[in-house]
Formats: sequence, structure tokens, C-alpha cells
Amino acid sequence: ESRVADTWTRTTCGYCSVGCGMLVGTKDGHPVAARGNPDHPVNRGKLCPKGLSEHLMVESPGRATTPLYRRGGRGTQLEPISWDEALDLMTSRIGSIQQRFGNNALGVISTGQLLTEEFYTLGKLVQLGFGTRNYDGNTTLCMASAVSGYKLSFGSDGPPGAYADLETADVVLLIGANIADNHPILCNRLRKRPGQVLIVADPRVTKTAMMADLHLPVKPRSDIALLNGIAHILLRDGLIDRAYIDAHAEGFEAFVEFAADFTPEAVSATTGLSTETLEHVAHLYGRASSAFIGWTMGVNHSTQGAVTVAAINNLAILTGNIGRTGGAPFSITGQCNAMGSRESSFTSALPGYRRFENAQDRRDLAGIWNVSEDSLPTARGLAYPDIIEAAVKGQIKALWIIATNPVVSFPNLKLLEQAFESTEFVVVQDGFYPTPTMDYADLVLPAAIWGEKEGTYTNSERRISKVNAFAVPPGEARRDFDIFLALAERLGAKGSLFLGWSSTHDAWLEWQRVSAGRLCDYSSFTWQQIEEQGGAQWGGDRLYRDGIFPRENGRALLHRVPCLPFVEQPDHEFDLILNTGRTVEHWHTRTKTGAVAMLDAMQPNAWLEMNPADAERLSLSQHDRVTVCSRRSSVRNVELRITGIVAPGQVFMPFHFAEQNSNLVTLGAFDPISREPNYKQCAVRVERT
Ligand code: SF4
Repeated sequence: ESRVADTWTRTTCGYCSVGCGMLVGTKDGHPVAARGNPDHPVNRGKLCPKGLSEHLMVESPGRATTPLYRRGGRGTQLEPISWDEALDLMTSRIGSIQQRFGNNALGVISTGQLLTEEFYTLGKLVQLGFGTRNYDGNTTLCMASAVSGYKLSFGSDGPPGAYADLETADVVLLIGANIADNHPILCNRLRKRPGQVLIVADPRVTKTAMMADLHLPVKPRSDIALLNGIAHILLRDGLIDRAYIDAHAEGFEAFVEFAADFTPEAVSATTGLSTETLEHVAHLYGRASSAFIGWTMGVNHSTQGAVTVAAINNLAILTGNIGRTGGAPFSITGQCNAMGSRESSFTSALPGYRRFENAQDRRDLAGIWNVSEDSLPTARGLAYPDIIEAAVKGQIKALWIIATNPVVSFPNLKLLEQAFESTEFVVVQDGFYPTPTMDYADLVLPAAIWGEKEGTYTNSERRISKVNAFAVPPGEARRDFDIFLALAERLGAKGSLFLGWSSTHDAWLEWQRVSAGRLCDYSSFTWQQIEEQGGAQWGGDRLYRDGIFPRENGRALLHRVPCLPFVEQPDHEFDLILNTGRTVEHWHTRTKTGAVAMLDAMQPNAWLEMNPADAERLSLSQHDRVTVCSRRSSVRNVELRITGIVAPGQVFMPFHFAEQNSNLVTLGAFDPISREPNYKQCAVRVERT
């Protein structure tokens, strides 16, 4: 009774890109309850276990409450210092490094967890205040391939569809997308239409695969063959929208010639699916009046991630399933600010999807900001993995890591350790203390988290939703936005970059002006309106309704995407293919969900799934403790789960757990276009610990 809320605050979930609307109940200023907002169009009152317990994270033990510094240098303890000293130290040490090695000796890595207003502010601060080009986000570890793939096909990032398409599509094809674990509330949007067919392509019998009408247990990384094979059948059997292609696409003739090789027989051999299944799937897709293809990390986490997205887009272009109700090639991305982080920052494009290399775009932006055009970068700086590699080589000397935990999330951790060791100065800004990454920090800045700040997130369907504060940051923790402004002040850049700013609403107002007239136009929305309506989608409910794409000739491009073998094939020494993924109870590296006792109790440890045939061959028994070894390193003491969920020759392990970290063994191989890591396939050996 004493815990009954006296106030309810409307906000948006801060975990995944579904972007559920929620109400957080507080009593005497302390969060005591969370429930789904029944009026919110995305989730209609429902929340998954993470959302339902999200308020518990805010006052959990282990929050970062004071700035910390290793006064005695590396190898000594982090000690509390004042904010003034911390910010002075940060600007003076980075300044000294930049004087000696150049501005680009600073690398900055942010996160898809920040508010759009914070991204916008940070991008400006990093590029124009600190003057480094080397800025990227952990978004490159999850959705960069989707961004690159959309650009390849359509000329711009931006998922063309909406979550409502999941309800209205005749056919929903999910590829490498275990939404039942990772975007659970989306499952409620399926099967609203009688007769809808759900097809799930995944090497593993995931919870989502179990929901499917048709599960396609493809061999690892055979998705491109599957997509090209479907295209082959669509072309062969006339299941294409020729009028749409003629009016809105290019590259058709060359694509027809290319797809000729992907016969059902050839694709059957590559994917492991029967020719009958391939014909059936292609006919279901091609005959649907509206067909939706959704994907997540099974596609993106690959050295061919960007072009796999282009191969998905090909099917949508061939059948005209773009800009149409129920029809879309749709990237279901990871983080709560899936899109805001892409549109407003300086990572893969200039703010407002402006291109670095386009002089008019730079002029335009410089004019709005009243800065010299020469101060804007003409090319993107280093992407996340390249920042790490540059640090290993001694080219990046200072790292500023904001609300992300690379010591758990970066592939091939040995390389990351070398990077930290090669730097002179590492700043970690986070809402929690300690995190594994803080072992390498020289300076720790305690930050406010979700529930303690106000602004907006934009989810995968381009829905801008309001995020509200219901608690105050603990101890001396400060909002990221306030930290950015305080740093700008010390750099002498507050007046030139953020004149008169005191709140995230000031950033919102400028961002509206910067985005006005762009594809991602935020200018017509107000905070009040989006809060009252449960968000609003920039670009409307669907992009490209008119079939005009933001490429020079206005046409979408059909790409010829070759099907290459994945980088590290199994051999006699490392004979199993490791797949990694997520589970419904946890978020990424568990910095947040590990702090919620209920979620931690539900899934406290990592495990390894192995097919019974492999377990028998290796004389392993259910619940044995095993060691997973790769050419990089090994993970010890993992619980073995023997199950037919994984096919023979494959094993699966969740990537959330620092204690049994799958990224000790994953491969440091990256997509050449998106720079996204290939987390999904590497060769391993499993033995009893
Ligand atoms: Fe939050 Fe995603 Fe769960 Fe919705 S589905 S409650 S946005 S974690």
C-alpha cells in the first residue's frame, strides 16, 4: 500500500527500438511502478519484462554518482574528484594530446541510448568544438549495415515502412530477426489479418521461428543466396511488378542476367532448403498483395551486411513493395533511439542526412549554424572499429566513450585491450559504476540515465516519441547534455556553437531548423504534440509513396549481390560455427538489466546451445560446464544446453554476459561498407571445462 504511486509520468521505453509508450508511477519522487500506456499506438498498453521493470533500474545500486580519476596514473585506483577538476582535466589532457598529435588523435564513441537532442549537441561539440573527425557510435555494432544498405538501394537511410505493416501485410518474411526475444511487443502486431503468412528464415529454431507458419532453417550466411533465389523465381514466373520497375527502378536488365544463376537447385545446395520450399516461399512472397520483409542482426552482423540489405531491397523493388500499405523492406533496429542517432549526428552523415562530400549540403548546414563551411568535414571520419584499430596503431591517443561498454560488446576483445593500452587518456561517461570498460578508464564521468532526462527518441518506424524525467540523477551525476555544454564552455565554444542554450529543448529547436526540408524533417512537430499523440513519424506513415527515391535520377537501384562464403569456415581444429544473439530478459551488456534483480534472476548466466549429435560426438552431457575456444581466445565455464534448436555443426551463445563473454572468441572482421562486425559466424571448438 505504501508503494502506491502518487504521480504517473508519460514516457517512452529506453531499451529497444520498438519504442513502447509507458507510464512510470512515482511515490514521493521515487519510481515504484511501470505500466504500458494504453493509448500509445505502438504497444497499446503492453510492455515486455524489460519495460515492466525499467523503473527499478533507476534507483538500483551501482549507479555512478561522482567523477573519478586515477590520480596516480594507470594501475592505481580511481578516486573521487570534483566536476570542475574532472572537466578541466578532460579538456586539458585532450587538448595536450591534440596539440602534440593533431585534432584527430581524439576518438569519440557514443551510443544509441542518448536522446536525439543529446546526439545533435554531441555531434556539434565533437566536430566543431573538439575538432576531431573520428566520431562514431555503438550504432555501428548494430545497425550500420541497414543504413548502408538503404543508401545503396534508395540513396538515403530511412526505413520506408511502419510497424502497422506487420498487421496489414499478406506475407511477413523475417530474416535473421528473433523478434520474440529482442522486440517482443512487435509479436502482438502479427496475425491481425486473417490468412497472414509468417515466414522466418533463421539457422536456429528461435522463439520467433516457432511462431512461424514456415520456418526456413537456412545454413549460416546463406541469406543472400536465399534472397537471390527468390528473385530468380519471381523473374522466371512473372511475379514482378514490371510497371513499378520501369517507372521507379534502374539496373533491371543487368539484374535479370545476374539472377539467372540462382536457380532453385543451386540455391538449395547453398541454403540447405529444398527446391520445393524455395518455390513455395517465392510464390507466397510474389503473389502477396503486400509483403513485408523485416530483419535485424542476423543480416546486419555480417561482412556482407550492407549488400544483404540491398538484396532484401531488391525483392521489394521487383514487386513494388515499397511505399505501399503492408509492403516494406524494414530494418528492425536495436536501440531506443534507433533513428535519432542516425539522423541528427555526425557519424555516418552530416545532420539531417546531409552528405559530407556534397558542397551544397555543407554550405547549407554552415549557413544555419553561422560557421565557416571549411569547418565542416568533407568526408566521414573513422568508424568505430577503425577508431579502435587506429588506437592500436598509436594514431588515436585519447578515447571518450559515452554510455557504451565495449569491453563486453566489441568483437575480438584482445584487440580492444591493445587499443586501450596504446592510448594516453581514456574517459568513460556512464550512468553505472563500475562497468567492465571502466577498468581501462583514466577518468569516469557519472551520467544521468533514462528517467532522469527529457527529450525525444525516434524508433525504427521513424516515430519521434517524448521521453520525460520522473527522477533526479543520483549523487553528483549529471545529464549528458549538461556535460556536453559544460565541456563546450571550457573549450570556449559555448557562445559560438550553443549560444543561449540551457536545456535539451534548445537543442530540439535548432535540430528542427536543421532537419527542415530534409527527408527526416522534424520541423512540424512540437514536444507537446508528440507526447499527447504517442509520437509522430517523420516522413509520414510510409516513405516513397510516390516511387521517387533520393538518388540523383530518383530511381531505386537493383544491386547484384554475390554470395560469398563467411570469413572463418570451420575446420578440423575449430569444427563448429558459433552464432551469437540476445535473450528477452537482457539488454546488450547488462549494465542496465543486470542491475534489475528480477531480470538478473530470470537469466543470470550465459549458456551454449549445442545439437544432440555434436554433444554425443564430443561426449558432453546436459549442463556440463564447457569452454568455447576460437583462434582468438576462449570463454570458460559456460553451461551447456543440448537442444535441437541449433543444427548439427552449429552452436549458439548469448552475448550479454561479461562473466562469460562471447566476444572473447568472436571474429574481428567487418563489413567493408558499413564497418559492422561479423558477430554471427566464427569457427570454435567446445570442450569440457
Ligand atoms: Fe521496451 Fe522494447 Fe520491451 Fe517495448 S519491446 S517494453 S520498447 S524493451
